[in-house]
Amino acid sequence: MFADLHLHTTFSDGTFTPEEVVSQAQRHGLRALALTDHDTVEGCPRAIAACRTAGIEFITGTELTGEHNNYEIHILGYFVDPLHQRLLSEMAKFQAVRQSRIHEMVAKLNGLGIPLKPESVFALANCHSPGRPHVARALVQAGFCGEMDEAFERFLKRGKPAWVPKFKMSATEAIALIHEAGGLAVMAHPGLNRTDEIIPDLVAAGLDGIECFHTKHSTAISEHYLEIADEHRLLVTGGSDCHGLSKGKPLIGTIKVPYTHVEMMKAKVAERAANGGLLLADGSVSPITS
Ligand code: AMP
Ligand code: ZN
Ligand code: FE
Ligand code: FE
Repeated sequence: MFADLHLHTTFSDGTFTPEEVVSQAQRHGLRALALTDHDTVEGCPRAIAACRTAGIEFITGTELTGEHNNYEIHILGYFVDPLHQRLLSEMAKFQAVRQSRIHEMVAKLNGLGIPLKPESVFALANCHSPGRPHVARALVQAGFCGEMDEAFERFLKRGKPAWVPKFKMSATEAIALIHEAGGLAVMAHPGLNRTDEIIPDLVAAGLDGIECFHTKHSTAISEHYLEIADEHRLLVTGGSDCHGLSKGKPLIGTIKVPYTHVEMMKAKVAERAANGGLLLADGSVSPITS
């Protein structure tokens, strides 16, 4: 019994609809899945319905972008309440930041002599949470680049001429927001960022888990983070970070996380809820006192 806890859909920069993700998960025999679209949970209601039909367990999730000591890190929020008011209003702010960033990136491309129109990026993205992959795809579609990687290498990567920094919340704010919405905060793909030195700070801020298994983690990297999880008593998670067909072959099915990790996550959420969900700054739950 396995799970994939890192999946993107058309509600952010993935190319599969929630229903397509669920049918792929079914094809790969997954017992559970989580959607982790950037700055949104909008795909969750449709995924819940499709999972119910497919007999797959669904976990609500999102992927927030945070910053700590000038490092960009991604924080996954699992089991968040998809109707939580402050979570939704904060995510709406970051969606607005993403939309204005598209205009800024397109303006830079125009300055480089590439007549891409923001409307073509928004039409292609067709979601509230657009990102660089949509700009890359628009560049490919209009024939300005041969493939997405070329668009990133020439224009969109950090430091390249059409790159625009993204306003981010602090990682500790992201963790607190996820907790406030009833969820578990998990550091995404630490092996991609190699920012091990900030892990103790994040643990102190209440980090619940770490994504040890990820498509871009070698066996050695996964083992390294399993040790770190053990050292800090963090939950272990994992997922494919599948973006559909936007990066060639879909990655769903390439990472299969043993379901026992999902059970441990559920136990932690349940324990917190049973304790009234009152979280202290260090991520522990305050005992109920009368
Ligand atoms: P953004 O959130 O707009 O900064 O875009 C980040 C997204 O771009 C992440 O989901 C990455 O997976 C994706 N990304 C980064 N580099 C590349 C690349 N070379 N090709 C395709 N997607 C990429
Ligand atoms: Zn993405
Ligand atoms: Fe990420
Ligand atoms: Fe992701």
